[in-house]
Amino acid sequence: MSLKDKNKVKAIGVVSGGLDSMLAATLIKGQGVEVYLLNFIMPWQKQVSKSVINLAANLEAKLILYQLDDIYIELIKNPKYGYGSAFNPCIDCNMFMFKAARKYLKEIEADFVFTGEVLAQRPMSQMRDKLALISKECDLEGRLLRPLSALLLEPTIPENEGLIDRSQLMNISGRSRKEQIKLAQKLGITDYPQPAGGCLLTDKVFGERTKDLLSNKYNGFKDMISLQWGRHFRINENFKAILGRKESENNLLVENADPNDYIICIENDRGPTLILKGETPNEEIFKICGGLIKHFSKSKTLDSVRVQYFKASFPKELFYFNAISLGEDYIDSMNVCSS
Ligand code: SF4
Repeated sequence: MSLKDKNKVKAIGVVSGGLDSMLAATLIKGQGVEVYLLNFIMPWQKQVSKSVINLAANLEAKLILYQLDDIYIELIKNPKYGYGSAFNPCIDCNMFMFKAARKYLKEIEADFVFTGEVLAQRPMSQMRDKLALISKECDLEGRLLRPLSALLLEPTIPENEGLIDRSQLMNISGRSRKEQIKLAQKLGITDYPQPAGGCLLTDKVFGERTKDLLSNKYNGFKDMISLQWGRHFRINENFKAILGRKESENNLLVENADPNDYIICIENDRGPTLILKGETPNEEIFKICGGLIKHFSKSKTLDSVRVQYFKASFPKELFYFNAISLGEDYIDSMNVCSS
C-alpha cells in the first residue's frame, strides 16, 4: 500500500530532449506523478531545444532550465573519472547534473529523481556498477529511478513504497533503439530527435577543439559555441582564428561573435569570413589572418588581396590591408582539427 497519497507524488526528470528521456518522462507522468523536468543547457547551446519545450508542454510539466557555465567548464578540464572515447567526461557530468537535481528534489519536496538512462547503452557511465556509483555519489541512493531499465535494476524507494508501480516500468538494455522505438509507438510518441543530435563532447573533432580552447586563453564558456562551425587555427596561446567554410557558417560565426572579436573578410568578395578571437591583436596577427583568408578563397593564387576588418562591437569602423600568402606548412601547423 502507498505510504503517500499518490496524487501528491512529485518527481524530477533530468531530460535531454532525446527519445529516451521522452519515454522515461511519459512513463512516469502516465502513473499520475507530478513531473518537473530539469534540462541542462550545454555551454555551446544558445537556447533550450525545441524537443524539451514540446515535452514539457505535452506532459504539462514544469520546466527547470539550468545553464551550464564556467563551473561546468572546470569539470570538463579535469574530470575525476576521466573521459570517454572523445572529450566526454560522462561520469563526472552525470554526477554534476544529478547533484543539481538533488538540490531541486529538496527544494520542491519531490519524492525521487528519474532519468532516461538505459543500462549498458553507454560503456562509460551506464554500466551497472557506474549507475550505482553515480546514485551513491550524488546522495540519491534509492531515489534515482531509471524507468527504462528499472526491471533490470534493484527496486528504488518509490517502487518499494508503492509510489510507482514497478510492473509498468521497462527492462530495456544495450545500445539498440529497437525497444525504445516500439515503446514510443505504444505511447503515441511520433516526433522525436534522431540520436545523431546528441552531446557534442562525444564528437572527436568538437572534443579536440574544446581541448585546444581550454588549454589556451579563452573568454569564458560562451566561446564554446563557435567550436561547432568552420576551420579552426591556433595562432598562439592568445589568438585563434575561425574561418567559415560556406555562407551559412560565415553567418553563424558572425551572429555568435563576441563583441571583442574581430571580423575579417576579403573586400567586395563572398569568400570565407574569419573571426579572430583574442585581445588587442597586433599587425602580425592580422597579417596571419589575412593569409589564412587568402589561402581559403578563390584569390589564393594572386600575389596579394585586399582585406577588410572591424571589431564586432564597432561594425561601422572598417580597416583595410593587403594580405599576402602564407606557407602551406605554416597553415598546417596552426590547424586545430579542421577538415
Ligand atoms: S554525453 Fe555529454 S551530456 Fe551526456 S553525460 Fe556525457 S558529457 Fe554529459
